[in-house]
Amino acid sequence: MCLFCKIIKKEIPSNIILENDNYLAFHDINPKAPIHILAIPKIHTESFNDVSAEIMSGMTSFIQEITKEVNIENNGYRVITNIGSDGGQEVAHLHFHILGGAKLKWGHFSDSDPKGHF
Ligand code: 5GP
Ligand code: ZN
Repeated sequence: MCLFCKIIKKEIPSNIILENDNYLAFHDINPKAPIHILAIPKIHTESFNDVSAEIMSGMTSFIQEITKEVNIENNGYRVITNIGSDGGQEVAHLHFHILGGAKLKWGHFSDSDPKGHF
């Protein structure tokens, strides 16, 4: 069973923010912003490559609910999902990073020339 499936089953403790029958949100153990939450579907899905439109639809409302719960919906935030090796995905269970609570930085994501394709 994957790490996040164990968190869903409460076999591994986590700091839960919101939960319903299909989705779970908890604080990232290694936060990269004052607010760093992970939102996951309860059904094991390896990455964004494999997720159905139906699960994504529910995920949209779930993420919106989370941002209201932690009061970042007006100041703004960032939603990220890393996919596969180049995307930097470390846990093979689809998760959305919700980052906020401060003005977030934006910069180059790789050492290669970002203008190379234009
Ligand atoms: P990825 O790199 O796969 O997009 O993100 C995985 C995230 O899961 C990382 O930000 C990492 O800090 C977080 N993480 C890894 N293990 C645990 C854990 O046991 N509990 C919690 N709450 N977060 C974890
Ligand atoms: Zn899983």
